[in-house]
Amino acid sequence: MHYRPNENRYDKMVYRKCGQSGLKLPAISLGLWHNFGDDFPHQSKRQICQAAFDAGITHFDLANNYGPPAGSAETAFGEILKTDFPGLRDELSISSKAGYDMWPGPYGEWGSRKYLIASCDQSLKRMGLDYVDIFYSHRFDPETPLEETMGALDHIVRSGRALYVGISSYNSQRTKEAVAILNDLGTPCLIHQPSYNMLNRWVETDGLLDCLDDLGIGSIAFTPLAQGLLTNKYIGGIPQNSRALQGKSLDRDKLTEELIGNLRALNDLAQARNQTLAQMALAWVLRGGRVTTALIGASSAQQVIDCAQAVENLKFTDAELAEIDLLSGDRGINLWAQSSETA
Ligand code: NDP
Repeated sequence: MHYRPNENRYDKMVYRKCGQSGLKLPAISLGLWHNFGDDFPHQSKRQICQAAFDAGITHFDLANNYGPPAGSAETAFGEILKTDFPGLRDELSISSKAGYDMWPGPYGEWGSRKYLIASCDQSLKRMGLDYVDIFYSHRFDPETPLEETMGALDHIVRSGRALYVGISSYNSQRTKEAVAILNDLGTPCLIHQPSYNMLNRWVETDGLLDCLDDLGIGSIAFTPLAQGLLTNKYIGGIPQNSRALQGKSLDRDKLTEELIGNLRALNDLAQARNQTLAQMALAWVLRGGRVTTALIGASSAQQVIDCAQAVENLKFTDAELAEIDLLSGDRGINLWAQSSETA
């Protein structure tokens, strides 16, 4: 079926300036880490992307290694761009990244100039794009001089492969160093991509959010739903069609009786705000405007539609925030801590 985008797609979404740049991002962005590999039906991938665009979600986040197998999410997205979004490239903001294990041998991961530039070229080819809007260093590399990694990002922009650059899971100290190098090179850092949600608070304890405020850099919080924990999915136990049963990135042992009890109480609070738990969790990440955009994943179009409606209520009372703090707090679910803990 030929896809015709919703004519009212820009009416309800909120767009926020990314730091001090001129680029606006939707308050909700869509990531293709899960559910875009060869193990997921292509038709469902199309429906998820279409539902996102129809809801005003203009930002799509990828990385070289998304799949499985690695690379297949970019290939699938490239096909969707061709079939469903012809002529719409300038209404889309697309990102990719390199940093994690992508191909065998010494040049297929981390932060060398050789890896980042080759990987960017491969990503562009898979997606059938001339350029990405944002290209990221996916993780801090303790063995490569930061000047080399940032120099590669600068080159990627100057050579026309990307319009902006970002960094992901760097701690505040490394962020300051990276930003200073990029400023000297004349390619400012647009955005930081950290994990952040009610159950994963490292950006608060590390001081990263304050650091980004001081530097005037935007942020895109990944896993804002704690991979689905902060939704109504698990309040009645673990359903069949859930990430917790896939044995991939979400450890079902984290779902203790105590946590499920707290999720139920959070769900009650969300209902009192006329929101689903997913919507409240996204609004919480976006509260106060410090985080530019919340980067969700989805296994169905309906989930995207539900999440996009979070922007209808982004305000919290002090009492609500205090109750959320009582019911949540850090749960040791930050799988990406190694990058930010490397001094
Ligand atoms: P989320 O925390 O948003 O979790 C997404 C999952 O939550 C979905 O797959 C679905 O689970 C469930 N869900 C989503 N919406 C709803 C809803 N409305 N109701 C009920 N359940 C819902 O994010 P992800 O963990 O998927 O990560 C998002 C993106 O962040 C990635 O795609 C990627 O772009 C980026 N990312 C970046 C990383 C980095 O190192 N920079 C690392 C990891 C992610 P189910 O599938 O079980 O239905």
